[in-house]
Amino acid sequence: MRPALGGRGDVASVHGAWHASHASRPHGPTDHIPFDEPRCVPVGSASVRLVSSVSSPVPDVSGPWQDAARGAALLDADGRGRPTIFAEMSALSLATGAVNLGQGFPDYAGPQEVLDAAVAAIRAGRNQYPPGRGVPELLDAIAEHHDRFYGIALDPKTDVLVTAGATEGLAAIFLALVRPGDEVVCFEPYYDAYGADIARAGGVQVNVPLRWRPATLTDAATFVLDPADLRAACSERTRMIVVNTPHNPTGTISRDSTLELIAELARAHNAIVVSDEVYEHLMFGVPHHPMAWFAPERTLTLGSGGKTFSVTGWKCGWITGPAELIDAVIGMKQWLTYVNGAPFQPAIATGLRLPDAVYTRGADELRDRRDLLCSALSEVGFEVALPDAGYFVIADAAPLGAVDGDAFCRGLPERCGVVAIPVTAFCAPGRDDLATLVRFAYCKSDDTLAEAARRLRTLTR
Ligand code: PMP
Ligand code: GLN
Repeated sequence: MRPALGGRGDVASVHGAWHASHASRPHGPTDHIPFDEPRCVPVGSASVRLVSSVSSPVPDVSGPWQDAARGAALLDADGRGRPTIFAEMSALSLATGAVNLGQGFPDYAGPQEVLDAAVAAIRAGRNQYPPGRGVPELLDAIAEHHDRFYGIALDPKTDVLVTAGATEGLAAIFLALVRPGDEVVCFEPYYDAYGADIARAGGVQVNVPLRWRPATLTDAATFVLDPADLRAACSERTRMIVVNTPHNPTGTISRDSTLELIAELARAHNAIVVSDEVYEHLMFGVPHHPMAWFAPERTLTLGSGGKTFSVTGWKCGWITGPAELIDAVIGMKQWLTYVNGAPFQPAIATGLRLPDAVYTRGADELRDRRDLLCSALSEVGFEVALPDAGYFVIADAAPLGAVDGDAFCRGLPERCGVVAIPVTAFCAPGRDDLATLVRFAYCKSDDTLAEAARRLRTLTR
């Protein structure tokens, strides 16, 4: 008999054995347990199957996931993948006790009516598979919402699809509609999922740079798009143009002239427009205009209940657009999650039907949070681009001596107990012009922001 791994085989040491055998051998076995030996070890008096510790060859784990990892610049030279920057930085925050201004999730509660509606839905037994497109009351509420805020008429039966967050909506869209070799135009910096999904679909990502413009005597720092760059990126190979307004990570809202140009180019090349509008209600003065106003016949728009009602863990989002495009996306979504979040769907429907004042209050409170963090960052010496919308502010750390935003962010927890995200994580390799920029999330409680501000003030060059 082979001795029990981990002494008497307590659960913790069994866990350790898993790590010991796997951490060192991502592509092949290094330990040798003969096949004929029992693969069960006693845990107390019970037995646990140590499948992971046997020495049969580990299957080749190469596969299409590596395309996704490569598309997000998260594939190492030896073929191993790395977690996203958000996962990595949230883990760093947990490990070091640093205030997490990295990943964009609120640490405060959403509207009470929305939370109560989810509890009520669970209690009422709405816990089984909902219909494929989404529960009728949410489909209706999304259509009413688009009519109320944008004057856009949708047929809830054909023009709306509920997804497991905007993240699944994006995956379903790209996997459904990008064919190998198709070009997909994105604005860079861009949300990381686009790169992963496009690469997995076999598409070719074509990036249009948003350029950092430092403050001048008359203008604040901001990001600018040169329309000539957008024109140059589009051709007969363009299958899709991806717009994200309000934009993560820059916090800018696309102006009508940009949306008009996207519509013109998409029509000229018969391309589909994907408009990620998950921050549509989180704006601070500059109005958000939906892309669907400009190219309704070819635009798929994404929304997120998680973002709009501060419940990011619920993963309840939606896609709206022309019925034929929605049908194509359903053709993929039904093989991803099939359906999602039965009790959360009526709760998000409740949220969407709340009075305007609830939406305005949410945005106003977020503006206060933005102002609190931005003034602390400016005071410390960062050059700050005041965002129009969303959860994030971009700050240039060069005035604090930074030359590499990635290294700056990795050192920040130790230097002052705060976590942030380097802007280069939203770029393909090579955007050296953005090397010293850092993204901070301000969707945090007053206490969290006050503590972060206190810690940031301890930063010295
Ligand atoms: N798009 C953008 C621009 C985002 O920032 C995020 C996540 N914060 C998503 C999509 C994903 O949204 P969800 O959490 O609804 O999946
Ligand atoms: N969208 C969030 C952000 O930009 C993170 C979501 C995620 O972790 N994928 O921070």
